[in-house]
Order: sequence, then C-alpha cells, then structure tokens
Amino acid sequence: MSQTFTVGRLFDIRVGIHVSWLAVYAFLTYAIAAAFGSLGSTQAYAMGALCALAVFLSLTAHEFAHALVARRYGVRTQSITLFLFGGVATLENEPPSPRAEIAIALAGPAASGVLGLVGCGLFALLIATTHGRLARDVAESVGYIAVANGVLAAFNLLPSFPMDGGRVLRAVLWRRWNSHARATAAATFIGIPLAAGLVGYGVFELAHGHRWQDGWYVLLGGFLTLQSVVAYRTAREAVAAEGVRLESQLGLAGPTLAGSARLEPSAPIA
Ligand SMILES: [Zn+2]
Repeated sequence: MSQTFTVGRLFDIRVGIHVSWLAVYAFLTYAIAAAFGSLGSTQAYAMGALCALAVFLSLTAHEFAHALVARRYGVRTQSITLFLFGGVATLENEPPSPRAEIAIALAGPAASGVLGLVGCGLFALLIATTHGRLARDVAESVGYIAVANGVLAAFNLLPSFPMDGGRVLRAVLWRRWNSHARATAAATFIGIPLAAGLVGYGVFELAHGHRWQDGWYVLLGGFLTLQSVVAYRTAREAVAAEGVRLESQLGLAGPTLAGSARLEPSAPIA
C-alpha cells in the first residue's frame, strides 16, 4: 500500500502503518475514552489512547502468529501493515497445501484467544487485589483489551474469505475437490452475503438509533463485500484458466493467485 510508513522490522518482516490507520486509532481512542466517562477528560483520553494502542499491538501479534507459522511451511511474509480496517499480512505465496492453509489461518485466532485468556486472568487478579477508582479503571482497561482479543479471534473465524475462517473453509474445499481455484471461488462466493450481512446489521443498528459507532460495521462490511467480490472474480478467472489447462492436457499444477493478502478486520470497537 502506498502512503505506508515503516515503523521497523521484526523477524525480518517489515511492519508498517498506512496513513489511514491514524483515523481508526483516533476513532477507537475516542470511543474508549467515552466509556471512561467518569474520569477527567485528559485522563480518559490517555486511557483510551493506551487501550487503543494495546488493541492494535494485539492485532499485530495476531498477524505475526500467521506469519511465523507460514514461515514453517516455507511461505515468507513481506510485510505486516496496520490500516483503516485493521491489519494485513502480505505473504509472498499462497500456502502450499490445505494442511498448511489451515495451520496458518488458525494461528492468528489462536494467538488472539491466548491473549484474551491471559487478559481475563490479569483482569481477575487486578480486581481481586487492588482498590480505588484508578486501579478499577486500569483493571477495566485490561478487561476491555481481553474482550477485544476474544472478539478479534471469533470475528476472524467467520467463514468470509479472505478472513481466517474463509481460508479454513477454502482449505477444506481445496482438499475435498483437489482444486485450489474452485475452492477459492466457492469460499469467496459464500463470503459475499456474509460481508453484505454485516452492512445490513450496521444499517439496522443505525436506523434504530442505538449507537453512532455502529456505522463502523457499515464501512467494514462494505469493504469486506468489495474484497469478496474482487477475490471471487479473480478466482473465477483462475477456474476458467484451470479448465483450459485441463482440457489442453498440459498437466500443470493449478494456477495460484499472485501473492496472498491476509486480512484482519479490527472488529472490536467499543
Ligand atoms: Zn487472522
């Protein structure tokens, strides 16, 4: 992505921030600060900024879990970038087998799940051993980050390609049909109504006037729908190419989509 600033390298993977991330960081800081309404506003915003930073560090850890498991299967990760809708890990190739795809896809939610459980334990410990308003707010911040990690794990397991759950679904179909292209087409096709459903959910919530933050689901759902449609079209072309290839008896392996952008929407918003 252009307009991306490199913040460093870890495990030989470039970590970057796209300029659009600043908007979602500010948004999340504000949303969390509003939840700390009992604090003075400067302190509430400081807590919000720290919490939001912890959420995005958690998201980065989720991405690195994908990247490090991918490396075990011989797939290098060029970069991990935070942007408006979450994080994206750019892998140089598609996973070499359905087994590799499943292992790589589940690594991220597993990492988020572990972080969530550790956070819950820390939250319980803080609640049991500390007293006072500030300590309670710190404990609640830890609890929020724990829940955010749990939501991140669960949301990304939805079977909507190119999210993790959609990749697991594709791997299962890939193994069953022995066709990477057909499996990708099916997984992306299923992902379209799921992503559109997220838009519908956001519109429903907005129409009933619950919270303006629900507008996020409309934006995120719209983005995911677009991603699914583009991935589906690409997959259909690959299916067609595979058909030609089979007909012409060239006997080559199925086509692979160039590169592999692994998408992690940051669903847990206040
Ligand atoms: Zn993931």
